Amino acid sequence: MTRIEFTILDQNFSVLVSNAQLMQVFCEQQALPIEVHSQGVVKSRITQGELQFDVTQLAQQQLGISVDGQQWQWLELPTTPTERKKNFIGLAALGFKLVKSANVIKAALAGASIAGYAWLFSWQFALMLVACLVVHEYGHVRAMQYFKIKTKGIYLIPFVGGLAVSDDKITTRWQDVVISLMGPAFGLITSVFGVVLYYATELEIFAAVAVLSALLNLFNLLPILPLDGGHVLKSISFSMRSWVGLLVCMAGVGFGLWLSYTFGLMLLVFFLFVGSLEILFEWRARHASHLLPLDRYGQVFSAVMYILVVAGHIAVMMHFADSENVILSLPMKVLSS
Ligand SMILES: [Zn+2]
Repeated sequence: MTRIEFTILDQNFSVLVSNAQLMQVFCEQQALPIEVHSQGVVKSRITQGELQFDVTQLAQQQLGISVDGQQWQWLELPTTPTERKKNFIGLAALGFKLVKSANVIKAALAGASIAGYAWLFSWQFALMLVACLVVHEYGHVRAMQYFKIKTKGIYLIPFVGGLAVSDDKITTRWQDVVISLMGPAFGLITSVFGVVLYYATELEIFAAVAVLSALLNLFNLLPILPLDGGHVLKSISFSMRSWVGLLVCMAGVGFGLWLSYTFGLMLLVFFLFVGSLEILFEWRARHASHLLPLDRYGQVFSAVMYILVVAGHIAVMMHFADSENVILSLPMKVLSS
């Protein structure tokens, strides 16, 4: 995969070329649809008109570009080292595909999740927890749909949580940030809704929903891979320099180890193992990464969005921090101890 960047009409474009074929066109961070214009020429609509690409010379490492049918300009493609085949990941992905193929599995997992949580806690708690998880995962699914990434829907995994599964691979770090953040952002709806319903009905269970949702989403926002917060952190830091990304993500692992040791969170240890593998893959693929990095503006904007979502959930928790009910104020006491 080769990426070529160029500027036309004061806008930054980039195209992805693979096996002498034009795979994708980006304007700033957004992927543009590609259509066939004529033999050997493809086009993409941009705000100021039409961008055309002559792809007949791609095998000779030449790409022709023209705006609105004006004179062709030819770009020389950089020669890249051939991509190493990721056999292990490919095999794992295939196995995963087989497992997730049936809808029956989806329903069975959801049922097992509810039963599992009910066995651990109570039926009310189980339903609340699953509702919070589903809203959170739905946020991820909506974000994937926004980027026209095919989704396989939501999977609930007993005792672990939820998972929004996609078919296509993401192509930009910006997509990773938005998809990761939309889960906790949708979760904010559950949190705030719980607060509103609590004041409307004075039923304590809605306050519990708000606190549970805030806690669940804040856990997902921890800056640790493979959690949502870790993905935001990875996208921002690997967009700067790959060694910055490596250091920041390793710091996340360190933070996670401290957290699991201090609070005795065994589940987090499992996540840390998966997260370390993800950091390793990211680092190994740093020279051949086809992910369009965030520019400086995108990095700052992503960080601000992350902080806002975190602040929203913390605000909901703080709201119940000095409530007389022990269950409601517990999370806040745990965080502040
Ligand atoms: Zn999530």
